[in-house]
Amino acid sequence: MGNGKELSSKRMTAAPKLERYESQLRRLARQLASEAGLISFVASGSLVRRYTSCGKAGCRCTADPPERHGPYWQWTKKVNGTTVTRRLSDEQAELFQQWLGDRQRLQATLSAMEAVSDKAAVLLLKEGRLKTAPRARTARSRASG
Ligand SMILES: [Zn+2]
Repeated sequence: MGNGKELSSKRMTAAPKLERYESQLRRLARQLASEAGLISFVASGSLVRRYTSCGKAGCRCTADPPERHGPYWQWTKKVNGTTVTRRLSDEQAELFQQWLGDRQRLQATLSAMEAVSDKAAVLLLKEGRLKTAPRARTARSRASG
């Protein structure tokens, strides 16, 4: 016999937990949406203040003791496995500080959503009814045909 419909009877014992996770997720999703609505651009990587030496002979940065250049703002980011560095002015650095912070905030909320989802997934997988997982209203109108 086919084992097609297994989720007929047996109302979830995990249902209250699942509902709690769902409402947590809703709250976080709303938070994410409102956070996302307030930002402009986002940046990843790190911003540091750094002193440098140019290495030119006779420059104060090669003196003894060396007097290095800077400090400069430096934005560092990995792009395709390569570390890319850009020097930024104070003004640019301020902007990037903002972009980095905004991204971090979104990422933190997203991570919280993922943590809740992981807990829900464990329940759903255990109960073998992942198919019936509640979904947000996503107007998924795929015009087939
Ligand atoms: Zn120098």
